[in-house]
Amino acid sequence: MPGTLSALSASVAANPRILQAKPSVNLFLVRYMRKFNVRKVGGHLILHSHLPPLNSRAYARFVDEHLLGGSPGPSHAQVGLTNACPQRCVYCYNRDRSGRRMDTPAILRTVEALRKMGVVWLGLTGGEPLLNKDIAAIIRHASEDCAVKLFTTGCGLTPALASDLKAAGLYSVCVSLDHWEAEVHDRGRGYPGAFREALRAVETFKAAGLDTGVSAVLSKEMIRSGLTEAFLDFLQSLEVDEAWLSEAKPSVQAFWKEDLVITEAERDLLAETQDRWNKRGRMTVNYLGHFESGRHFGCNAGTKMIYVDAFGEVSPCVFAPMTFGNVHDAPVEDIWSRMRAEFSPASACFTNANFRLFPKYSAGRMPIPPEDSVALVREAPFTPPGKFVRLVNGRRRDKS
Ligand code: SF4
Repeated sequence: MPGTLSALSASVAANPRILQAKPSVNLFLVRYMRKFNVRKVGGHLILHSHLPPLNSRAYARFVDEHLLGGSPGPSHAQVGLTNACPQRCVYCYNRDRSGRRMDTPAILRTVEALRKMGVVWLGLTGGEPLLNKDIAAIIRHASEDCAVKLFTTGCGLTPALASDLKAAGLYSVCVSLDHWEAEVHDRGRGYPGAFREALRAVETFKAAGLDTGVSAVLSKEMIRSGLTEAFLDFLQSLEVDEAWLSEAKPSVQAFWKEDLVITEAERDLLAETQDRWNKRGRMTVNYLGHFESGRHFGCNAGTKMIYVDAFGEVSPCVFAPMTFGNVHDAPVEDIWSRMRAEFSPASACFTNANFRLFPKYSAGRMPIPPEDSVALVREAPFTPPGKFVRLVNGRRRDKS
């Protein structure tokens, strides 16, 4: 049974101040939370891993700073720890990025600044973040009041490293796995043995006692042919805690094609699949397009979400191939302010809705440089904000 009462009672017990939010906001949260089962891992009460644990300091900060405090800062961030990776995914949002990589002091400074700006959920990405030898120290630096999540291929993981990451305060991990057939997964990743490495990593993270999920990029082919269910059956057989699903995004030039971009009807279908699976009460299914749909939190690229890649380029989201500045040249706070001034919360995914503008402003450069990114956003139409943002703000905030 979906965990309405347990999720709500855990959330309210840990954060009674949440009752100061508008009744309409709390009603929204009741309806949203009832779609998921709360799982308990290592003392954490987890609705799904795109939100901090309901009983954590990070979630309390989300309530205080964002829900009640109206913070203008981001709540969610992703930071690239390296662009090095043994795999070559066709859809990788980082494959065309380059530059002077952030060293560990620069990463720590950036993470610290992001926390102070309001970030309560930090995704560590790459490249393959496990290749950064300072990953445990970076997690330790952030995890006291911020939920730190790791996205990894699993390459390079050892039992000792998994234990170190847990001891450093890692909240949750997602191992990339896109298909139940080894050959198909390996081909998409351009790496023979990727499937075997991923399965080994799932076992190793679970043995370390970490909240362990699989992040899967669903191809149009899988979605259209109705094979998502078969894939979820496979993931459940691995006994992972969560299936974190997203579709292939038009982040790189090879995907700037109409027939490769998911339709709204297909997104609705995946959201229904998520809800159906969660009613079964076993593995959590967490489809990003459900969380970010207009009916829920909407797209908050550049308004609540920020991405700093391994070279210090600042983007509104990992999937938006644009930069608004580099932390080597300016404080991340200043870049955020400039970027945020150009964006509005929306009900449609910015990248899915505006990829047709990318060729015009890219001219072969990735990510699109700041002045062209500004021009692109000014040309982009913005849909009204997602329902949660409308309820919290109490009015529509359109860019146009
Ligand atoms: S652009 Fe798309 S993927 Fe990025 S934050 Fe918005 S909805 Fe999410």
